[in-house]
Amino acid sequence: MKIFNTLSRRKEEFVPLTPGQVKMYVCGPTVYNLIHIGNARPMIVFDTVRRYFEYKGYDVRFVSNFTDVDDKIIKKAIEEGVDANTVSERYIAECKKDMAAMNVKPATVHPQATQEICGMLEMIQTLIDKGHAYVAKDGTVYFRVSSFKEYGKLSHKNLDELMSGLRELKVTGEEDKEDPNDFVLWKPKKEGEPYWESPWCQGRPGWHIECSVMSKRYLGEQIDIHAGGEDLIFPHHENEIAQSECANGKPFATYWMHNGFLNIDNKKMSKSLGNFFTVREIGEKYDLQVLRFFMLSAHYRSPLNFSADLMEASKNGLERILTCVDKLNDLEAKAEGAAETCGEQENMEAAGKLKAKFEEAMDDDFNTADAVSAVFELVKLANSTAAAGSTKAYVSFLNKTIKELCDVLGIITERGKEALDSEIEEMIAARQQARKAKNFALADEIRGKLLDMGIVLEDTREGVKWKRV
Ligand SMILES: [Zn+2]
Repeated sequence: MKIFNTLSRRKEEFVPLTPGQVKMYVCGPTVYNLIHIGNARPMIVFDTVRRYFEYKGYDVRFVSNFTDVDDKIIKKAIEEGVDANTVSERYIAECKKDMAAMNVKPATVHPQATQEICGMLEMIQTLIDKGHAYVAKDGTVYFRVSSFKEYGKLSHKNLDELMSGLRELKVTGEEDKEDPNDFVLWKPKKEGEPYWESPWCQGRPGWHIECSVMSKRYLGEQIDIHAGGEDLIFPHHENEIAQSECANGKPFATYWMHNGFLNIDNKKMSKSLGNFFTVREIGEKYDLQVLRFFMLSAHYRSPLNFSADLMEASKNGLERILTCVDKLNDLEAKAEGAAETCGEQENMEAAGKLKAKFEEAMDDDFNTADAVSAVFELVKLANSTAAAGSTKAYVSFLNKTIKELCDVLGIITERGKEALDSEIEEMIAARQQARKAKNFALADEIRGKLLDMGIVLEDTREGVKWKRV
């Protein structure tokens, strides 16, 4: 398997640190709002990378964080008159619903920054002890960029150029910085902000340190793949490398993977241009499987343009696959010991070759665009050759192959297999409403409907919990 490594700017053969295992960390969203479709791209792309490793038999440990302490979260909490935790917990729950609707698997661990402060204090102290960080008068702790000679190796920036470019850019309040490139590891609290005790001041962590710490805690000092959107290469990932490699004295990640930007109608997505979409908004118009399929129609490193036309094309493409699976399911149920029809053996070989083509595309830096074409060729083969007279073996083989490859892409081939979490939550809310209004007949009716959908409710002290049976 080959992976394009941002560090070397080349495709490299994938060699795991431990044979048969993949340790992977993907930077997750800052939870102050519903996620937008730009957030959805790395989620879908790297979930597909994970699925392909699993398909190849690797044991994948996949960690993705939620940044739950940040200026935007605090601002929102102040606006709403609640504490920051209330805001972040709400949007973590919403984000998980969107992920489920896009068929993104939950990570092995979803750590949250506010629950990892101890590890951050420890790593910051190590960096200070080793001379890679220093404490300013007001208690701010800065990383000393000049102490790490390899700084700039990921973004391919030259440290001297960075220095001269930033020399004039001293920011008010940061007069104590030794150098404009130095970045914050810990900062003092401001009025009304959440804070933690530390040896330097009451305050909170900088953004970059959380990923270095959570990656180390859940995956170890060295990992195979660190991934995220290309906007994270500098400074976020560059700073993570500096922190982790200086603290641990070891290379951090072997491969750095970055997905390209998502544009809307060939323009950058922004609230001011009015072309900003949340995943939830797209979910009102389309099944989010369509969004997933659309995202995979391009190579993950290419810029991707989102438009209504392209979404319609993806909807039709997905429908073509689902209709084919419907037909194969039907044929498979009916086919009984028919004699082999002419050409089945050759067609089976052709299908096998298309599966190999799919794998070849995925082995080549996860080229999902070509992998999707291989699936379409299989669909074409199935549509033109599977018929009432086909043998069960032939129909089953085609059906199984298409479903297996769609599963690698995270595309659900069974229609209406699972109700979306959001629908279930809505029904539960309606039942609560009915109970409040003492309309117990309606409440019971909703409970019955949910049961028919395979959802069991449990009334607990923390509220209603549900699970699929
Ligand atoms: Zn990160």
